[in-house]
Amino acid sequence: MWILGIDTSCDDTGVGLVRDGEVVVNLVAGQVALHEAYGGVVPELASREHLKVLRPLAERALAEAGIGPKDLSLVAATRGPGLIGALLVGYTFAKGLAWALGRPFYAVHHLEAHIAAAWPEGLEPPFLALVASGGHTHLFEVRALGRYRLLGATRDDAAGEAFDKVARLLGLGFPGGPEIERLAEGAEEAVPFPVPLRGQEGYEFSFSGLKTKALHLVERGLPGPALARGFQEAAIAHLAEVVLRAARDTGHRVLLVAGGVAANRALQGRFREAGLEVHFPPKGLSQDNGAMVALAAWRRHRAGFPPSPLSLGATPYWPLEEA
Ligand code: ATP
Ligand code: FE
Repeated sequence: MWILGIDTSCDDTGVGLVRDGEVVVNLVAGQVALHEAYGGVVPELASREHLKVLRPLAERALAEAGIGPKDLSLVAATRGPGLIGALLVGYTFAKGLAWALGRPFYAVHHLEAHIAAAWPEGLEPPFLALVASGGHTHLFEVRALGRYRLLGATRDDAAGEAFDKVARLLGLGFPGGPEIERLAEGAEEAVPFPVPLRGQEGYEFSFSGLKTKALHLVERGLPGPALARGFQEAAIAHLAEVVLRAARDTGHRVLLVAGGVAANRALQGRFREAGLEVHFPPKGLSQDNGAMVALAAWRRHRAGFPPSPLSLGATPYWPLEEA
């Protein structure tokens, strides 16, 4: 069974093809150069670029898989959350395709897709899932597919956003996560950063203090590599402390780490030594992509969830607990 998955929630056009739960093709067209001059994603430009890129990208994905549209059994797209104009491009394209082909359509929650990318075949809930990305730092208890309890989230910046902002302070490119990671790996020492919310109870996160600290250190002229490493270590320590406290309190011994920040090797190392069973997305599936959307739809279909009505609209705001 072939499933086409599309994600256009932000500034990446993602088209993925999944066959019986296996990722066969996963194409992502980024827009970094388009938004570079503005210091952030310009929603209208993002939407227009998706519009231009999506159809050829979908055609290329089918060609790479050696199949035609009629071979698709299901079509899926991210419904939200995200930039509404950007979402509408992929979501409407997918609905139109499903309708034209007479195939079921699945409206997918972007965070469920991130979680699906890290969820190994055969692993049964319940478990904990940390989504750490450009727009989210959310810790969930996954009770079942489609049944999520939010344990805690960031009070301010998302983890990936903090990596991006600190990278900008250091004059590095976007996205900042891989740049910070590269710089930190070459550092001989680390400038100490205080770990946010250390010693507090609860499962909230905070990254804005690290960003402010980085700004002060940059102004004092401290070396970039040591600063990048100090920031990265504190950010990872913070994520690990909150998640391990939640694991201790809830008794869960299994953890998924999903979203763009999950690609960070130092972070993976820290969580791997935490004494839990930890799963990360395979390479290429942590950042936004279409395959993760198809994987989420595959899980929903297999679990007997009904397809989504074509009358259902995209939505910029959609808590995962309501998915
Ligand atoms: P959301 O999923 O919350 O809507 P998003 O889709 O923009 O946000 P993703 O594509 O999942 O986010 O992740 C992008 C983020 O991941 C960026 O902030 C980027 O800096 C960060 N990131 C990517 N690679 C790394 C890395 N190696 N280390 C740390 N952060 C990383
Ligand atoms: Fe994302």
